[in-house]
Amino acid sequence: PPVQAPPDTTKKTLVILGTGWGAISMLKGIDSSLYNIVVVSPRNYFLFTPLLPSCTVGTIEHRSIMEPIHYITRHKQRAIHFYEAHCTDIDPATKTITVEDQSDIKGDVSKATLKYDYLVVAVGTENNTFGIPGVTEHACFLKEIWDARKIRTKLMDCIETATFPGQTPEEVERLLHMVVVGGGPTGVEYAGELHDFLVEDLVDWYPDIADKVRLTLVEAHPTVLPMFSRQLIDYTESTFKSNKINVQTGSVVKEVHDKHLVVETHDKQRIQIPYGLLVWATGNTQRPLVRDLMAKLSVAQTSKRGLLVDDYLRVKGAEGIWAIGDATFTKYAPLAQVASQQGIYLAKAFNRLAKLEEENAAAGRSTVDIATSTDPTDEDTRAKIRPFNYTSQGSLAYIGADRAIADMPIFGKNVSSSGFATYLFWKSAYINLLFNTRNQSMVAADWVKKTLFGRDISRE
Ligand code: FAD
Ligand code: NAD
Repeated sequence: PPVQAPPDTTKKTLVILGTGWGAISMLKGIDSSLYNIVVVSPRNYFLFTPLLPSCTVGTIEHRSIMEPIHYITRHKQRAIHFYEAHCTDIDPATKTITVEDQSDIKGDVSKATLKYDYLVVAVGTENNTFGIPGVTEHACFLKEIWDARKIRTKLMDCIETATFPGQTPEEVERLLHMVVVGGGPTGVEYAGELHDFLVEDLVDWYPDIADKVRLTLVEAHPTVLPMFSRQLIDYTESTFKSNKINVQTGSVVKEVHDKHLVVETHDKQRIQIPYGLLVWATGNTQRPLVRDLMAKLSVAQTSKRGLLVDDYLRVKGAEGIWAIGDATFTKYAPLAQVASQQGIYLAKAFNRLAKLEEENAAAGRSTVDIATSTDPTDEDTRAKIRPFNYTSQGSLAYIGADRAIADMPIFGKNVSSSGFATYLFWKSAYINLLFNTRNQSMVAADWVKKTLFGRDISRE
């Protein structure tokens, strides 16, 4: 890797917040010789989220979908400084950020202030609980690697506890009831993976209780997967039915307790559902850091749903701040493919920007700072750096039992497909999308291992 050196005072300092889809795509494309680049994130790795549901039951081992940030930065021309920390405050007035080490091990110094010329906010979102009581205390989320590990551990704990001597039939029934809340792609993919684990592994290792395991998915809307075409919604619901996954649509979870949840059904009845394992997948909400920044820029930031950006991904109302991915509120869905295309776009825009500034300086032109100009009609910016343009590559989801669904744009038309062939396509698409050969081989090896030996059922 390139050797760490003090910042070059002739170059601008570019700070990137996050190591997710948006930040990593940007880092891969940026020419690090043009800026002093600093990355701040509480995670020193990139996580390939599309395969995260597979880690909850051991189809894939969690390290196979993690890529250390240092593996990425070592290929850069000039060293990139990485700080494992949370950014806890952004001050647009002084162009500084506060960073805090919130990990278990702290040194004498665990808080610092960093200056930036340019800042890219790519911090994603956190799980939305809608303030429903008991969710944070009792449910498992599915967003980070530790969430998947926790689900896997709790699942095995429920199963082992159900076989404890003298356990009453009612308690066995409760412990073996796995409930998923949220019928978006996260909830559906998790339910699909859990189904596979039950029929492919549990029946062999726990034949006495396997037929007592039940799986319920609760969704507030009248259908699951509202973002997919009608045909694929019907296909998913009928596949779930034949896989004995009980789908309870039109039902809103109102309260969560340690052993049961309270659901309001479409006819306004309140029912109690006992559960052993509860997975909460009801979507995203903005992080406090982003909410604070929106409050500081309140005149320009009129949406509560995320940072508003212009066509060049510059944060409205701020100077020298860009935002990408789930932290923004745009016409695009919060998707990895959006964050990744935005990251690639910003890398190119920043590479171009540094070159334009060099040209300006060499020609002795007055340095109109085109990067920080917030005037959307700035002709110079428009002529030399094109606005961001998103190309959808379609939607894909795994639904269990070796079946997947896909809505793909082909020659301007949406083409829907489902079943085993789509599952093979899903596998090949994701293995190709994995960033490097190391992770590709690890995931492929996990798939082979699962086929030959089954999933590992030890409880961590
Ligand atoms: P993230 O990838 O979430 O990255 C945010 C980064 O910011 C992380 O590194 C985080 O540690 C860091 N961070 C957090 N707080 C701070 C802070 N205070 N300071 C500094 N850094 C911070 N999308 C698809 O298109 N296809 C899929 O198949 C798909 N599958 C998914 C499956 C699951 C289970 C989940 C949860 C999501 C899936 N998504 C998928 C959505 C996709 O993962 C997100 O849209 C994408 O991760 C957004 O990228 P991002 O860079 O905005 O945020
Ligand atoms: P989501 O927002 O897509 O779905 C959440 C679901 O939870 C909604 O359908 C909502 O009606 C339901 N819900 C909310 N509150 C509820 C309550 N109290 N009771 C019952 N149901 C409730 O969230 P997600 O599935 O986590 O996805 C987040 C983002 O990530 C989306 O943009 C999604 O497209 C993307 N993603 C994509 C894939 C994929 O492409 N395969 C996989 C996972 C996530």
